[in-house]
Amino acid sequence: MAAPLTPDRFIAILKAEGVAVREYPGWRTRQRDDETGKAFGPVHMILNHHTGGRDALDTVAKDGVAGLPAPLAQIYLARTGAAWLCSPGRANHAGLMARNAYDSFLNEATTHPAPAKATGTVDGNDVAYGIETENRGDGQDEYPRAQYDAWVRINAAFCRAYGWSAESCGCHKETSIEGKPDPRGPVEGYGVRGKFAFTPAQFRADVAERLKHGASWSPRTTPAPKPPTTEERLSRLDKRVTALEMKES
Ligand SMILES: [Zn+2]
Repeated sequence: MAAPLTPDRFIAILKAEGVAVREYPGWRTRQRDDETGKAFGPVHMILNHHTGGRDALDTVAKDGVAGLPAPLAQIYLARTGAAWLCSPGRANHAGLMARNAYDSFLNEATTHPAPAKATGTVDGNDVAYGIETENRGDGQDEYPRAQYDAWVRINAAFCRAYGWSAESCGCHKETSIEGKPDPRGPVEGYGVRGKFAFTPAQFRADVAERLKHGASWSPRTTPAPKPPTTEERLSRLDKRVTALEMKES
C-alpha cells in the first residue's frame, strides 16, 4: 500500500504535478537499503528540510558528509525549482523522530505536537520521503517563488500518489529530537501572496489548497478583479441609459 514509488512512477507523479524533473546520474540504484540492511518503507510521510548551504546537489546525491553517507534525501530541490532525483530508496535525512510527532503525521492529525524524546523514537529514514531544499538556512536567505511553488507541488504529488492529506507533510524541526531548525527563512511569494516567512502550517495550507485542484493546476498569481461597488454599477447603468436615449433621439 505504502510501498516506495518505483523510479518511473516517481518521475511520472512529479511531472503530472508540473514539476521540472532532473535525474541525477545513477539515482535509480543509489540508496542506503543494502548498506544498512533495512529496507525503505512502508512510507507514511514527507519530511521537508533546508540544505543549510548553496550548491549542495553533489553532496546530497552522491558525496554525503563526514559520518553521513549519501544519498541525503530522495529529492534535492534547487533554487530554480528543478527537482533533482537522488534516490528512490532509503536516504539519510531524517535521523530519529520523536514518536509523538511522528504519530501525528502518521495519523494525519490536524495539530502536531512539539517533538518529545520521552515518548520514544522512530527511525525517520524508514518511513519518510526527504526533500532537501537549497537554502542557506540562516533565516535571511530567501526561497525564490519558483522554488516554493515546486516544493508545494512535490509534496502534493506524494499526497496524491498515496491518498494522503497535507497533514502528512512534515518539517524536520517538527520531528527532530536534536532540535534541528529546518526549514526556515523568508519566501519571495506564492500565488497572490507577497513575501512571507516559511511556516509548516502555511506550507501545509498551501499543499491542502493544491490538493483541492487537479495535478495540472497552477495558483493564480494576480489578484482577482474586485466586484464593482453599487455606485460603480449605477454609474455604468446611467451611461448605458444615456447612450440609449441618444440613439433614440
Ligand atoms: Zn533537516
